[in-house]
Amino acid sequence: MQIPAKRLANLAQTIFQRGGADQATAGQVAEKLIEANLLGHDSHGVGMVPAYVLGLHEDQLKPQNQLTVERDHGAFLLVNGNAGFGQVNAKAAMELAIQRAKEQGVAVLGLKNSYHIGRVGAWAEMGAAAGFISIHYVNVLSRTSAVAPYGGSDSRFSTNPYCTAIPVSEGDDPIVLDMATSRVAVGKVRVAHNKGEKMMPDALIDSEGNPTTDPGVMYSEPKGALRSMGLHKGYGLAVVCEALAGAFTGGGMFGSDGVPQGRIINNMLAVLIDPDAFGERAAFDAEVKEFTAWVKASPPASGVDEVMVPGEPERKSKIVRLANGVPIDDTTFEDLLAAGETVGLDRGEAMRIIGN
Ligand code: NAD
Repeated sequence: MQIPAKRLANLAQTIFQRGGADQATAGQVAEKLIEANLLGHDSHGVGMVPAYVLGLHEDQLKPQNQLTVERDHGAFLLVNGNAGFGQVNAKAAMELAIQRAKEQGVAVLGLKNSYHIGRVGAWAEMGAAAGFISIHYVNVLSRTSAVAPYGGSDSRFSTNPYCTAIPVSEGDDPIVLDMATSRVAVGKVRVAHNKGEKMMPDALIDSEGNPTTDPGVMYSEPKGALRSMGLHKGYGLAVVCEALAGAFTGGGMFGSDGVPQGRIINNMLAVLIDPDAFGERAAFDAEVKEFTAWVKASPPASGVDEVMVPGEPERKSKIVRLANGVPIDDTTFEDLLAAGETVGLDRGEAMRIIGN
């Protein structure tokens, strides 16, 4: 199915409202999920609605909770998301950090104990739109781990995303490197599983540690695991994310004593830096622009249309999906309808919202 973004957003918003979120919160969360779909990251789009609804039912996601500031000194801010919606928490936390970076030239933000913050790029883009280099380390605390350490044969932590957005000259798009440190995000395995597709050969291991392309190993017992991207290097970056986002903020590392299990909690360390801090803003803008043009001028390898910089594939996807609608596979759609039913939204009403 190809569903227009606006209608899909309305459906997600209605489900969250029926689940106990107020209209503004539900709208904000739905908008960010659809934005992820539009940018091509179905792993972080409306496919997350059932997991959020489960969080509401199990009282692990607290829709009314707001941020509280725990520490505030100099450039440093530590805020607690109190298990509220991550899309609301991350936006509010970034607003505080942007204000602080305007005053100090740099801000170091710890956001701990937030429900899932979705596509981390959204928050880095917010920093870049305000004119700052925006660096983000995130860890994920959930019921089960998903990613094996390099050389290990079972999962010990999660997909710990890393993101940096770099603002460039006014009017130009930022560079946005936004990635899971696993070979792929968990949601991409879910999407492949739902579509009955195979994964690439280096993304998964089965329960005995052998490489496999079958996404089903993540949905059967004994479970397999995702592999880190870039072998030991991606694994190393995941460990750094776990330590900086989890231990440094006090939000907790995977498997630590006392870390609440059974939730999709994100902790994030964000560092916002004024690109003019060393008085080199004009040269910075010019050089980043020149370098971008230089790498993009590399003749494309066979089978490749063009050389892109990080952030470009997402912007291209958005143009196509705004025009054609968001593709939703049958299983994801069915899960969405089923999640709606659990909060009293019947299928007929759901179908009317999406215009079918
Ligand atoms: P991905 O592999 O699709 O893309 C990673 C990065 O590579 C992006 O910056 C993209 O612009 C860039 N890229 C992709 N193809 C490119 C090309 N051909 N040329 C140049 N650059 C290219 O992303 P992913 O690792 O699957 O992550 C997906 C999303 O999942 C991210 O938004 C991430 O923040 C999110 N995520 C969130 C959580 C969470 O707990 N909140 C956990 C894991 C991942």
